[in-house]
Amino acid sequence: MRPEILYPLFAPVTALAGVGPRFAKLFEALAGPHTVDLCWHLPSGVIDRRYAPKVAAAQPGRIATVTVTVGQHRAARSPRQPYKIACHDETGELELVFFHAREDYLRRILPEGQQRVVSGKVEVFADALQMTHPDHVAPPEESAEVMTVEPVYPLTAGLSLKVVGKAVRAALERAPELPEWLDPAFLGRQGWEGWRESLGRAHAPEDEADISPLTRARQRLAYDELLANQLALALVRARQRRQRGRSVRGDGRLRGAVLDALPYGLTGAQQRALAEITDDMAAESRMLRLLQGDVGSGKTVVALLAMLSAVEAGGQAALMAPTEVLARQHYQTLQPLAAAAGVGLEVLTGRDKGKSRNAILARLANGEAGIAVGTHALFQEDVEFRDLALAVIDEQHRFGVHQRLTLSAKGRAVDVLVMTATPIPRTLMLTAYGDLEVSQLTEKPAGRLPIDTRALPLERLEEVVEAVARALAEGAKVYWICPLVAESEASDLAAAEERHAALKARFGEGVGLVHGRMAGKEKDAVMAAFSEGPLKMLVATTVIEVGVDVPAASVMVIEHAERFGLAQLHQLRGRIGRGRAKSTCLLLYQGPLGETARARLRTLRETDDGFKIAEEDLRLRGAGELLGTRQSGFPEFRLADLAVHGELLAAARDDARLILDKDAELESPRGQALRTLLYLFERDAAVKFLRSG
Ligand code: ADP
Ligand code: MG
Repeated sequence: MRPEILYPLFAPVTALAGVGPRFAKLFEALAGPHTVDLCWHLPSGVIDRRYAPKVAAAQPGRIATVTVTVGQHRAARSPRQPYKIACHDETGELELVFFHAREDYLRRILPEGQQRVVSGKVEVFADALQMTHPDHVAPPEESAEVMTVEPVYPLTAGLSLKVVGKAVRAALERAPELPEWLDPAFLGRQGWEGWRESLGRAHAPEDEADISPLTRARQRLAYDELLANQLALALVRARQRRQRGRSVRGDGRLRGAVLDALPYGLTGAQQRALAEITDDMAAESRMLRLLQGDVGSGKTVVALLAMLSAVEAGGQAALMAPTEVLARQHYQTLQPLAAAAGVGLEVLTGRDKGKSRNAILARLANGEAGIAVGTHALFQEDVEFRDLALAVIDEQHRFGVHQRLTLSAKGRAVDVLVMTATPIPRTLMLTAYGDLEVSQLTEKPAGRLPIDTRALPLERLEEVVEAVARALAEGAKVYWICPLVAESEASDLAAAEERHAALKARFGEGVGLVHGRMAGKEKDAVMAAFSEGPLKMLVATTVIEVGVDVPAASVMVIEHAERFGLAQLHQLRGRIGRGRAKSTCLLLYQGPLGETARARLRTLRETDDGFKIAEEDLRLRGAGELLGTRQSGFPEFRLADLAVHGELLAAARDDARLILDKDAELESPRGQALRTLLYLFERDAAVKFLRSG
């Protein structure tokens, strides 16, 4: 249960003065639903209102705070014209300008003949000095309160700086003193202040330099957030370790059968990775290992062999894919191999219903199925295994940590292998898993030809169509990737349908279309028709991005390549170059290209190395965006920025480890304070792992 001391921070934003139900939704979208979310809403800039010249000396373009005598009000003559108030001091005249003004209100705050302090940007318009919509209007005795440095907050449509600033101040007032959870010696070394002081300071910048993430106050807050993250992960890991693991050691007979059935031998990297995985499985402790390998590096077969070793040992294994298409495709690929080894394989997705689903569930529960392939449908409560020993999660960054935990709960000490094609920087891995073991597939299967990648302006579309026509005539299969039109699937779809119609008119019935809005069965049918059937060309939105394997496809056209991210383009391109034919990727772009888009396309032409590409992507975009947003399964930080706080993350990891070594149940006074920290950052689930949580 959340400690009482935090109650004021977890009150809804509507508890704050000035935040009614009308604003609540906007605040929720801007920062979050609770008071604490406004505390985390740090300023993004400052407005310095200390510049207080006489009117004649006021520099146009600057924010100024001036004391004036209010003169005549001149109402607007038409709704499109502004309401004006002539003001002056002893040196000159200043006109206040208001659009859509409410006269009674303006007469109340700016009564004729009285002195007022006004603060805002001074501008020259038609030779007159003006201030349009002053940010502040106050009586002269309050001028000191106006002449300050004001924090500027990120805003959203419908919420002005005034409203946001006021709500944040109200939120800060509710923030209690909290017991210190940081080690005093560490705190001293860093020169950091307590939590509340740091929070207050972060919200009271005195100049632009105070907005930097490297100020002491912001570092302290970032560290708190990272420590909460690392401590939560360490607690999960500690609990996993407390539960006994099991040794899963196969005898190699099923793996042998599959290796005999494969048309190729494993690469050195595949063999090494497999050995690391099976060693982990054979150990008494629970495995949590990441298998990292670029697109096309051959992760699937490694996963299959690992799963077979679980089956050899009398257990079962499950392979989880992020999408229906992928789950079905894995099933197609693995089915003949599993059959060669005489192992029962089932596929389970959200599409399976009723009787057939029940039949599948029965085969998982009675062990007839040694291996299950599926989507998150495998997580559902009524799915039971006879003896699940290994869970493999493909392209894991689409699954949350929570789902990973649910899955491990489905068996006795389930070993977990996570596969990803995204070369995730070490820092990001740390935030998602704490420490985990990594196997890498550093080499691609032999005989892969490099993909000839070219960038062409969209004006040369006709030429591209001709080139595609030649490739089709030679028997190639072609992907045609449609542009991301907008943030909306509907308009992406419209563009794809249009292109599909045009290409079909040119090339006939052999042109298929697959997109995200299609029902699962339809998608499968189209993919199958492209993979083995009559389709020669597949027009697609990015649904094919992850994992699809059609070795005969050797040409890819990507329309509006400038709209895609670098990693995304790399993933897309990884769909070709898998077979024996020389492959070509044509990146069609709409000029003129911006600096970043140009750099992206250049990188793509120059290299095919996923790690290099990921590094470049990180450089071009920053860590936050590298893995996409919310679906990524990686924690999002409010206060920490991994691009600049990487060292703090490493320190937080060590700190978390040390803390649990000394006080595994967080019972000491510092331990208690750390519990508060976990709640403060909403890591409530982690606290439940404590015996007395
Ligand atoms: P990814 O790592 O992107 O998931 P896949 O597992 O889909 O890669 O493998 C890509 C292609 O490479 C598949 O067609 C697979 O059959 C093939 N492949 C995998 N391992 C080897 C190997 N050692 N030699 C040759 N081809 C391989
Ligand atoms: Mg794959």
